[in-house]
Amino acid sequence: MSKKFVYLFSEGNATMRELLGGKGANLAEMTHIGLPVPQGFTISTEACTQYYEDGRKINDEIQAQIMEYIDKMEEVVGKKFGDKENPLLVSVRSGARASMPGMMDTILNLGLNEDVVEVMSAKSGNPRWAWDCYRRFIQMYSDVVMEVGKKYFEQLIDEMKEAKGVTQDIDLTADDLKTLAGQFKAEYKNKIGKDFPTDPKEQLMGAVEAVFRSWDNPRANVYRRDNDIPYSWGTAVNVQAMAFGNMGDNCGTGVAFTRDPATGEKGLMGEFLVNAQGEDVVAGVRTPMPIAEMAEKFPAAYEQFTKVCAILEDHYRDMQDMEFTVEEGKLYMLQTRNGKRTAKAALKIACDLVDEGMIDEKQAVAMIDPRNLDTLLHPQFDAKALKAATPAGKGLGASPGAACGKVVFTAEDAEAWNARGEKVVLVRLETSPEDITGMKAAQGILTVRGGMTSHAAVVARGMGSCCVSGCGEIKMD
Ligand code: ADP
Ligand code: MG
Repeated sequence: MSKKFVYLFSEGNATMRELLGGKGANLAEMTHIGLPVPQGFTISTEACTQYYEDGRKINDEIQAQIMEYIDKMEEVVGKKFGDKENPLLVSVRSGARASMPGMMDTILNLGLNEDVVEVMSAKSGNPRWAWDCYRRFIQMYSDVVMEVGKKYFEQLIDEMKEAKGVTQDIDLTADDLKTLAGQFKAEYKNKIGKDFPTDPKEQLMGAVEAVFRSWDNPRANVYRRDNDIPYSWGTAVNVQAMAFGNMGDNCGTGVAFTRDPATGEKGLMGEFLVNAQGEDVVAGVRTPMPIAEMAEKFPAAYEQFTKVCAILEDHYRDMQDMEFTVEEGKLYMLQTRNGKRTAKAALKIACDLVDEGMIDEKQAVAMIDPRNLDTLLHPQFDAKALKAATPAGKGLGASPGAACGKVVFTAEDAEAWNARGEKVVLVRLETSPEDITGMKAAQGILTVRGGMTSHAAVVARGMGSCCVSGCGEIKMD
């Protein structure tokens, strides 16, 4: 019998992390404990390894299994790729054994083409949503699969916003987004020399290959080296039915921790962004609301969510870091994992879990990463000097410590200045994975946008560097 390379979420569980990656194993586990997870399948890490063994090719056997699982998934979800009644849209997400935040790219809304977007628009009576999904898809697919480069698309969006006299993406209309989708496809053709692919299965195969390929990209290699993750592990690929947070004001998307990852304090901490999809929250395109505010504005979804949080903590016996989406008032869970935390939080959480009877003392000790204890000895400002200083602005304390250095505005400068022995603080509108080497070279990181769960915040906490995010008082172009 041939090897099994593909698993439905319902076929996996949390112990299968090596095969399904952390994200896939936890999606399967959440499916098993009955949480509302959009269904799909995981292509194993072994398929990724095989891809490299075969000289960077997805062999026929693996392709055939993926096709077979598309059929199975269509049955489970009750939607079909390219269908005129009930079109299936999916996300394609990488997921290695160890979590690698922001290191590899996700594609959302895959399955869209000119016909499907019209079906979605007509069926939902919500053309803005349909076209928003489509333009996002073209953008992400072009960037991730064909490496066209984000900046061309962002420039087109900026031009559109300016032409329409709006500042926020949500203020663009269905027609604006439709025009943008057309411009994006023209840009794609211009750069690639071919039309944007319309066949969902072809789109999917391209996306899967891009995830495999991304295992070997420079930023993934840097992150792996810093975190002792072997190259040989490979990444799994998760193909998951979309939940839509961008259908209107009764929708949104969020990220949350069951306990504060900076202090370990028990209680939900996170952010929620109305009428938004995926990366919008962490990318800092708009400033999200604190999760507590969700309790007032989305009471039903918030209640579902707090229940899910309790179930997850009880199940994993650890602080969870979750991604979720609310589609027309209904909650969907998209990810959970044991949350990264500061050393201070790690100590508090481990002790609290013992007190709560969730774990025993031995387990508590095993939860503390000895390498992290040194971050308890983070630099601190002299209290007197701090009191005497005049604040230049106020932001969120995203990662503890103190930093002092000359201001640089790009990752390249941070590296270059650091290499010649200067201490620098990296100041960015927001950081993205490309900035990783500059972030390492800096004493600390300051961002204008983004919240406690922004890329800068998550990466800085992981590195043990000081980070202040969402400092809107800084004006930067
Ligand atoms: P990362 O590892 O960078 O967090 P993810 O694969 O988790 O990448 O996805 C990026 C974003 O897209 C996340 O906010 C996630 O919640 C969202 N997302 C992924 N899959 C779906 C889906 N099926 N429906 C809605 N949002 C999704
Ligand atoms: Mg994620």
